Amino acid sequence: MKEKRKRLEPTTYVKGILDGNRIILSRAITLIESQLEEDQELASKVLEKVLPHSGQSMRIGITGVPGVGKSTFIEQFGKLVLNEGHKLAVLAIDPSSSLTKGSILGDKTRMESLAADERAFIRPSPAGTALGGVGAKTRESMLLCEAAGYDVVFIETVGVGQSETLVKGMVDFFLLLMLAGAGDELQGIKKGIIEMTDALVINKADGENVKAAKKARREYTNALHLFPPNASGWTPKVSVCSALKNEGIVDIWEMILSFQMKMKRNGYFEENRSQQRVAWMHENIRYMLERQFYSNRKIRDQIESVLPEIKSGKTSSIAMARKLLKSYFAEIKN
Ligand code: GDP
Repeated sequence: MKEKRKRLEPTTYVKGILDGNRIILSRAITLIESQLEEDQELASKVLEKVLPHSGQSMRIGITGVPGVGKSTFIEQFGKLVLNEGHKLAVLAIDPSSSLTKGSILGDKTRMESLAADERAFIRPSPAGTALGGVGAKTRESMLLCEAAGYDVVFIETVGVGQSETLVKGMVDFFLLLMLAGAGDELQGIKKGIIEMTDALVINKADGENVKAAKKARREYTNALHLFPPNASGWTPKVSVCSALKNEGIVDIWEMILSFQMKMKRNGYFEENRSQQRVAWMHENIRYMLERQFYSNRKIRDQIESVLPEIKSGKTSSIAMARKLLKSYFAEIKN
């Protein structure tokens, strides 16, 4: 068994984070990601202390199907953000990592030059946790990064339909990367995802693909007119870029700055964050309840023993769920 790494005092984590110490920040995120109860307690102490220093960043969600060019885009876009004088944290939510223990950012060859830059902090998606748990941990990690002085945060996710809502719930701006020329353009994307995007960016607009990309831009722009306006008063923008050739990237940054200015002015920026905070609380409650329920040994044994009657249909799933919950609440009362 791997020897457990020594934990630090809560104040050491807090000071390290506030000083912008990347090693301490990394170790604090490891605490957050840990499944051990004692680590969780330590992590929440650290989080409480740094919380007042968080929130000062522009949080940008970036999604798109595998191969669309997310890492190439993040690398170019990230470098631009750094050149603008910001510090950048890139975090990831990978729905597949909860199943395979792999990670979209686990591959060291991704975002090499960004990873080598002192002003950037890149953290892969925590593996081996249920998606809801990954979401909670990513949020907390984001707050730590902010407290450490990262004033732009990218949350990357693979656009396969499960994790977008999670990401949307923790960012200020949501960007969907797409490709042109894949037949009926809007067929492939779920309507729900379009509804939550603030910008639809058609990548790989280079070489022979330029014409198709421009055509797609027109089609998407027309299609977006059919959607009801956003609660924010922002009309989602469609743009084209080539992450590979580093073209069109600066326009996207300017679009985000203009979004930020407008949303701060009309109050939606704060309003959105307030709503997100409330939603996070509820999500945390659900997550904690579930965790406690399933980590209760007696309940786990009980579940094991009733599985045959559930499998065979002898007892209904809902009746059994009620019974197990009742037994759980009786159990914790004692
Ligand atoms: P991800 O899976 O979404 O992270 O996509 P990657 O960034 O790994 O890119 C997938 C492939 O598309 C790689 O071979 C990239 O070199 C290529 N690619 C990414 N962006 C562009 C672009 O703007 N133009 C072209 N032609 N290829 C690109």
